[in-house]
Amino acid sequence: MLSIEWEDGVVSRLPLAYLRGWCPCAACQGHGTVVEFHPAAPGVGLELMAEAGAYALHLRFTDGHDSGIYTWTWLRQIAPESPPEGYKQGRFASGRFEG
Ligand SMILES: [Zn+2]
Repeated sequence: MLSIEWEDGVVSRLPLAYLRGWCPCAACQGHGTVVEFHPAAPGVGLELMAEAGAYALHLRFTDGHDSGIYTWTWLRQIAPESPPEGYKQGRFASGRFEG
């Protein structure tokens, strides 16, 4: 579980398998404008977490996948407190989630 406290005081808890499912990298998502949730193995963990500049987190998962750069903007968008509320699955297209 990754917990993030945002500047506005909201605290988001993001399960690791959920983060893995929303990996934004090109291998997971292709090069289109639609980003889709890809369910990950439930037991997937985190091997490494590093800041990528001031704008993102670089995550390496225990399944060896490490090409995702999770921007703070992206993490806030998939956070359960952001609309639509709850953990999101499905597609993210044109700036909006589609269930
Ligand atoms: Zn990926």
